[in-house]
Amino acid sequence: MTSRIVLATHNPHKVQEFASIVATTRPDLEVTGYDGPEPVEDGVSFAENALIKARVAAARTGLPALADDSGICVDVLGGAPGIFSAYWAGHKKDPVSNVELLLDQLADIADPHRAAHFVSTIALVTPAGAEHVVEGLWPGRIALRASGEGGFGYDPVFLPEGQGGRSAAELTADEKNAASHRARAFVALVPLLAVLEH
Ligand code: IMP
Repeated sequence: MTSRIVLATHNPHKVQEFASIVATTRPDLEVTGYDGPEPVEDGVSFAENALIKARVAAARTGLPALADDSGICVDVLGGAPGIFSAYWAGHKKDPVSNVELLLDQLADIADPHRAAHFVSTIALVTPAGAEHVVEGLWPGRIALRASGEGGFGYDPVFLPEGQGGRSAAELTADEKNAASHRARAFVALVPLLAVLEH
């Protein structure tokens, strides 16, 4: 029997990315996108915001639901932008302005003190009310200037550990998908999918 799971995101890339990961471990699981109304994300942690989105999707579809919330955390900023990553430079949610503001804030901070990590938190909520949360971290540091054309968001200014000083925007899609915070959270999620009926 095929089980269905809904992914509460309007981002088709995330649906694709997740579907390709579960295909290898749970080929009986059919992943579909959910494009219902987006709830207000008024949680104060990645986990709370992921749970808010997954609960709404599970309640509206009657299916187990996954939702992720992600962002970048800079050590010297006390973990900011964090949950405010998407609108760090204002609610217009402009990625270029977000990156410019971050670089400006760190202008006087020398390289050894620019440690940062991406976080991806994924919530799994079943219609019966079971709730699970997993997290993936991608360590690195903030570059002195932007480089690279790939990826999105803060990728041009994020230098992941172990990638030879290249920014996340200079990695291939396969390289990013193998190492990223989202990939790491997905790996942590796979055993939890056992709560879903085969
Ligand atoms: P969301 O979880 O898709 O809402 O993403 C939150 C924000 O975090 C995005 O708007 C980006 O600014 C940032 N972000 C999350 N993941 C990534 C990534 O893989 N690369 C670059 N920026 C990211």
